Amino acid sequence: MVKKQKYIVTSALTYANGYTHLGHIAGSILPGDLYARYLRLKGEDVIYICGSDEYGTAIEMAAIKENLTPEEIIDKYHNSNKKAYSDLLMSFDIYSRTSNDIHKETAREFFLNLYNKGILYSKTENQLFSIKLDKFLADRFVEGTCPICGYEEARGDQCENCGNSLNPLELINPKAKPTGDTPIVKETTNLYFPLSKYKNDLQKWIESKNYWKQNVLNYCKGLYKTGLVDRSVTRDLKWGIPVPVEQYKDKVIYVWIEAPVGYISATKDLFIEKGTPDKWESYWKDKETKLIHFLGKDNIIFHAVIFPSMLMAHGDYVLPDNVPANEFLNINGGKFSKSKGIGWTVNDTLKLFKPDVIRYAIAASLPENKDSEFSFDDFVTKNNSELSDILGNYINRVLVFAKSKFDNEVPKRIDDENNLFLETVKLYKERIANLFDNYKFREALIQTMNIARDANKYFNDCEPWKIYKTDKEKCGHIINDCLQICYSLSIAFSPFIPEASDKILKMLNANKENFKWDRIGDINIKSGHKLGENEILFPKIEIEQESTEKESVSNFNLIDINDFKKIEMRIGEIVNAEKIEKSKKLLKLKVKISDKTKQIVSGISEYYTPEELIGKKIVVVDNLKPSRLMGIDSEGMLLAAKINGELKIITIDGDIKDGAEVN
Ligand SMILES: [Zn+2]
Repeated sequence: MVKKQKYIVTSALTYANGYTHLGHIAGSILPGDLYARYLRLKGEDVIYICGSDEYGTAIEMAAIKENLTPEEIIDKYHNSNKKAYSDLLMSFDIYSRTSNDIHKETAREFFLNLYNKGILYSKTENQLFSIKLDKFLADRFVEGTCPICGYEEARGDQCENCGNSLNPLELINPKAKPTGDTPIVKETTNLYFPLSKYKNDLQKWIESKNYWKQNVLNYCKGLYKTGLVDRSVTRDLKWGIPVPVEQYKDKVIYVWIEAPVGYISATKDLFIEKGTPDKWESYWKDKETKLIHFLGKDNIIFHAVIFPSMLMAHGDYVLPDNVPANEFLNINGGKFSKSKGIGWTVNDTLKLFKPDVIRYAIAASLPENKDSEFSFDDFVTKNNSELSDILGNYINRVLVFAKSKFDNEVPKRIDDENNLFLETVKLYKERIANLFDNYKFREALIQTMNIARDANKYFNDCEPWKIYKTDKEKCGHIINDCLQICYSLSIAFSPFIPEASDKILKMLNANKENFKWDRIGDINIKSGHKLGENEILFPKIEIEQESTEKESVSNFNLIDINDFKKIEMRIGEIVNAEKIEKSKKLLKLKVKISDKTKQIVSGISEYYTPEELIGKKIVVVDNLKPSRLMGIDSEGMLLAAKINGELKIITIDGDIKDGAEVN
């Protein structure tokens, strides 16, 4: 038996400070999923890793903005994003998170390995300090003008506009966030990773990677020209993994040093889950393993330069084989940005389109070589004129014909009849595999749809409806061919549109015995096999419906009266209130609403004591889906208003009995 090639495929960890959006999908998530699915079809030994990146100042910023604790923020977005990816049919072997114990342990080990070898060095230096906030302003806690491109909202760690990484001290006209005060300069001591020492090793390594994408190579080469700057690996922050060295224990490990180690911890997490906790080593410690990082271009520096040099310094682990970074996907002109709240979240898009349609339309617009444009209309056009008119149409006409003329069975092949079209499909298979192997998924999608396009032409040219009248046997052979192509299409399309692929198999009433890449273009279903029920694969999306949906996206804040009527609000009386251990903000309330009592978890602990709440009559949203906060069920929500940063509960004018409806 041929030894399988081991692969670790990763998609960039998603920052748990907001809802994941189509920019992430196009940048790193979908390409990783397409590639992992393709490798599995080829029978390779692949693990596909992703997860939430949960430390760093962006989490703290989000917590301040949303009036939650960092723990609450990461729980909220980790759970939501994990579900969004699963709804979009992403096939991660694990979606882990960097706040779990296995990651903390792995990150500490990694850090100590470098520290104990004497690789890290300490440096006392000036840093920006906010007197108002009483802390050093690491990374995103400071904003100012980029010294390189002049962009006025550059962050302390990186300029989003030109992509260069920055030191907060370089910012022109720096301001503390969120307070806006001008920081002072103060001394602090941090540990540094000597990136500059790895310049020669990195350069030699990159030279062996002439098969990398040009945009990535250009970026790396540009960086070597301007020189590699040593990186501080500790931060004066509270939210993070404490530095495992006594002298620095009040600092945390810099998030960009520990986050990529998350790929290793997630692999450990996966095999703990599988009950074989040591097996992660057979991937990470085998130099033959191919480690492939999918990411957006803003992450190239970390995956192609910093993390590899850390891996070189550590010495035990495999280095990346490839870093196929994508450019940005622009929707209707503007760049997706989670921090600015621009763009489409996956959750919102899934309300409008089926997962397969989203996957297909995004795959057709992947920004592989340059930024690409995307608009809402692309979903509709791709669904109607490709998925429905070409693929759906082909599957439908073949199955309808087989049902009406061959009793819904696979007709016999004529043995000496050649199968020219299946040979064509095999040629496509080679071409598409080559595109996948070179990370050209956009072109792979076009070629896959071309199989269906050519199959339609084959069906037309053969004119089976005519031949049926003169030579039923020959017609049967043609339809057998056409059904084999349906099976091949199901395999070839499965990385892109897995749900439709399964549906085709179901319509063929076929199993997955031959569901392998190599079987594309083969005879996979037997003559006499009974077919299943036909259904429409991709219903057309009507334009009228589309325009109202479009409106509902752009006017997301407006609802009509019927939406409002869906919300059931009632008067409730608080009969009990208690603090939740470990939470500064949350209280657990028991609220009597007529003859039932509900448990509601509410973020009002900073503004009310439990005692002063008992007996209060409040307005409760009664038909809210139950949720869990800090492990406690919450079955509703109470209404409150924010005044000067303080929450005030909405109370009742006059004596109204609990249970009364609010309109
Ligand atoms: Zn800049």
